[in-house]
Amino acid sequence: MAENPSYVNSTLVVEDHSFEIPLRPQTLSDFVGQEEVKARLEVLIGAAKQRGEPMGHCLLSGPPGLGKTTLANIISKTMGSSLVITSGPMLEKPGDLAGLLTNLQEGDVLFIDEIHRMQRTVEEYLYPAMEDFVLDLMIDSGPNARSVQVKLNPFTLIGATTRSGLLTAPLRSRFGLSCRLDYYQPDVLESILARTGGLLRVEIDGAGLAEIAKRARGTPRVANNLLRWVRDFAQMRTDGVINRDVVFQALAMLSIDGEGLDEMDKKILQVMIEHYGGGPVGLSTLAIAIGEEGQTIEEVYEPFLILRGFIKRTPRGRVATDKAYLHLGQKIRD
Ligand code: ADP
Repeated sequence: MAENPSYVNSTLVVEDHSFEIPLRPQTLSDFVGQEEVKARLEVLIGAAKQRGEPMGHCLLSGPPGLGKTTLANIISKTMGSSLVITSGPMLEKPGDLAGLLTNLQEGDVLFIDEIHRMQRTVEEYLYPAMEDFVLDLMIDSGPNARSVQVKLNPFTLIGATTRSGLLTAPLRSRFGLSCRLDYYQPDVLESILARTGGLLRVEIDGAGLAEIAKRARGTPRVANNLLRWVRDFAQMRTDGVINRDVVFQALAMLSIDGEGLDEMDKKILQVMIEHYGGGPVGLSTLAIAIGEEGQTIEEVYEPFLILRGFIKRTPRGRVATDKAYLHLGQKIRD
C-alpha cells in the first residue's frame, strides 16, 4: 500500500485508489477541464518553484470524483516532492496529526481529504503548523503541564472538502488559495473518456463516447467507471468496435437512464414523490426511508439532482420539482 513505509501508522493512508493510478493524469496539461483552477495552480506552482519554496496552502472543494486527489498528486509531482495522504476522520487525536507533521520533509505535500470532518481539537493544532510551521505540544498534565514548541519542515497543505460551508472560518482563512471544482460539461468528459479509452485500449466510436459522457453525472470518476463497465459488457456480449447502441444496452443493464440518473437517484425521487407528496421532506427522514446515510445523500446524490433541477432545497426540507415528476412519469401535483 504505502510508498514510504516511514509514514505508515494506523492514522493515515498513502494513495488508496491504487487501481485508478494508471488513469490519473500526472501533469496539469493532462488534466482536462477546470481551466480556471488549473490557471491559478499554474501561477502558484510556478511562483513557488522560482522562489525555491514550498507552494502555499490550498483548499480544493467540490463533489466527489471531480479530481481533487488527482490535483494534489499533480502538484506534488510538479513540485518534485512527496505526497502524504490522510483524511479528516482518520486524525482522531492531536497526536495523530503531530506524528504526521513531524515526519514531513521540507516541501512535502500533505493532502487532508474530507478536511471538514476533522475534530476541532485536532484542527487547532493545524493553525500554527500552517502559519508558522511550528507545533505547540502540551506535555505532562496537572501542575507540571507545559507547552513545548516543535519546529516543522516547511510543507504544503492541500485540503479537500465536499462541503466547504462546514469549514470553520479560522481554518478557511489559513489557506492562501481556495478553488472550487465544478461538474464537467459533457464535451469535456468526452475528452477525458477518449484519453481513458486510449489508456485502456478500448475500441469505441465517437457517438459511444458521447453517450457515456452525457450520462456520467458531470463526474470523471463516474465516466471512467462507466467506460470500464461498457468495455466489460462489450467483451461478453458483442464483438467489434463499441458504438452508441452497445452503450445503450450496457447502461440499461445498470439502470442508468438518459439523464444519467442511477437506481439510487431514482429511488430518492420516488420516495419523495410517493411517500411524502413531493416534499418538503427532511434529510434524516429521507435517509431512513431510503436506507442510505444522510451524509451520502447530501454529498453524493443531492448536488447532482439539484444541479439538474430535479430537487429544490427549501428551509423546510427537500422538494421534488415538476421535472422530477415528469421524469418518473408521475402526474404533477397541483
Ligand atoms: P476526488 O479526489 O475529487 O474525489 P479524484 O481525483 O480521485 O477525485 O478523481 C477520480 C478519478 O477521475 C481519477 O481516477 C482520475 O483519473 C479521474 N479524473 C478526475 N479529474 C480528471 C480530469 N480533469 N481529467 C482526467 N481524469 C480525471
